[in-house]
Amino acid sequence: MAGAGVFSEILDGDAYKYYSNGEWKKSSSGKTVAIVNPTTRKTQYKVQACTQEEVNNVMELAKSAQKTWAKTPLWKRAELLHKAAAILKEHKAPIAECLIKEIAKPAKDSVTEVVRSGDLISYTAEEGVRILGEGKFLVSDSFPGNERTKYCLTSKIPLGVVLAIPPFNYPVNLAVSKIGPALIAGNSLVLKPPTQGAVSCLHMVHCFHLAGFPKGLISCVTGKGSEIGDFLTMHPGVNCISFTGGDTGISISKKAGMIPLQMELGGKDACIVLEDADLDLVAANIIKGGFSYSGQRCTAIKVVLVMESVADALVEKVKARVAKLRIGPPEDDCDITPVVTESSANFIEGLVMDAKDKGATFCQQYKREGNLIWPLLLDNVRPDMRIAWEEPFGPILPVIRINSVDEGIHHCNASNFGLQGCVFTKDINKAMLISDAMETGTVQINSAPARGPDHFPFQGLKDSGIGSQGITNSIDMMTKVKTTVINLPSPSYSMG
Ligand code: NAP
Repeated sequence: MAGAGVFSEILDGDAYKYYSNGEWKKSSSGKTVAIVNPTTRKTQYKVQACTQEEVNNVMELAKSAQKTWAKTPLWKRAELLHKAAAILKEHKAPIAECLIKEIAKPAKDSVTEVVRSGDLISYTAEEGVRILGEGKFLVSDSFPGNERTKYCLTSKIPLGVVLAIPPFNYPVNLAVSKIGPALIAGNSLVLKPPTQGAVSCLHMVHCFHLAGFPKGLISCVTGKGSEIGDFLTMHPGVNCISFTGGDTGISISKKAGMIPLQMELGGKDACIVLEDADLDLVAANIIKGGFSYSGQRCTAIKVVLVMESVADALVEKVKARVAKLRIGPPEDDCDITPVVTESSANFIEGLVMDAKDKGATFCQQYKREGNLIWPLLLDNVRPDMRIAWEEPFGPILPVIRINSVDEGIHHCNASNFGLQGCVFTKDINKAMLISDAMETGTVQINSAPARGPDHFPFQGLKDSGIGSQGITNSIDMMTKVKTTVINLPSPSYSMG
């Protein structure tokens, strides 16, 4: 159970503590932040509202712990990460329980998120041992005018203190995708979890605590992003920020200092459907890609661009599948569960009403109870409707009918987002041309967009991000290249 058994020390009365210097603590603010259960709309948990002084303190601790950690052998760092991964998986049930209560993630998906996170940590440990154990050796005479008098050795060194800020929709998975690479590379880590998802993150952090990481190396400060966010992201003690979320990331990147940034932001993933596509495959992928976790995924299909000649047939197939979706509480493992907050539900409703006013065809009746919004397919959407461009982060999917492939590509590229996209056709040559023309970080051919498997490179163009994630890329991003040059008194050439 959450907050019980091995997790009892993270809870004090009805409020969860924050993690600093290897201990669970109450904030000196005496204040807490309430986490509202999206299903019941009642306060489910409370977390500490940490102060700026507490943030200063974890930054100091992180700085000094990192110096010792960087001198810890790579195999030992990996060993501790493997241990944390095993503990996390062992305690998947209470952590999944938190995900269900905090973010209304369906029960099975909640367990999957924890297990996937354990696997991600283990893979990161293995990958780190390999790639951080390698460097480069260069000789000077390959550059014009030089003799072989210099040997250059390159290696990867840690950046220092990494600040990790994940979003609500995958709070555990997107936290460990930052924590794992940071730690294996010899950095220390300060985590600011999302408010919805904070308690899941605190349980996950406790698994690292139980694994025995050194004091101060990992900290977790809680509080509303709007209150402590700027103080954290502009803190002089931070050497790298890895952020996943919405437009907040754009403002962080404008305010942050001269430090490496990894930004994984929003998306408006387009699904381009050609005349020769297997429409049953497309419909199945639209359901999975558009409606899983009620559309609250960065890589959800957020607009369908279908050739007019097959649009009627596709819409009918998708409608039939929408009718079969189970709608209700996450505890019952329903397909469509309440969206994360009331303000999110209101925002989604605003997009629906705008589409209604401008004449979109409603394939189902719009229905909402509290934060629970019934799945809705909107046909005949036109570019003057907000839903054609904005990210609803809810179970609402617009269909735009197109008369040429170029029209579909044009719509995709006119978006300010460029995360992923997908194209359905049996013609691989056409698929490749379309993939190359789409201005997105990834294009999936004949499948819905997806972030995983977690070792694949994952990146967004334009407002969808800076840099690239995926285990190897994140490790690289959280290191810097260091070179040592050996200068010889006279040229030395190795003989065959
Ligand atoms: P969000 O509102 O941008 O919040 C993301 C994180 O930023 C949360 O931890 C939030 O904390 C924190 N935050 C808020 N204000 C801050 C500030 N001023 N400084 C620093 N941190 C601050 O996004 P969300 O609603 O959680 O997640 C949904 C968005 O994430 C969608 O746009 C989705 O597309 C995107 N997303 C992208 C990816 C990707 O990999 N590209 C993956 C998943 C989600 P609080 O919760 O305390 O406010």
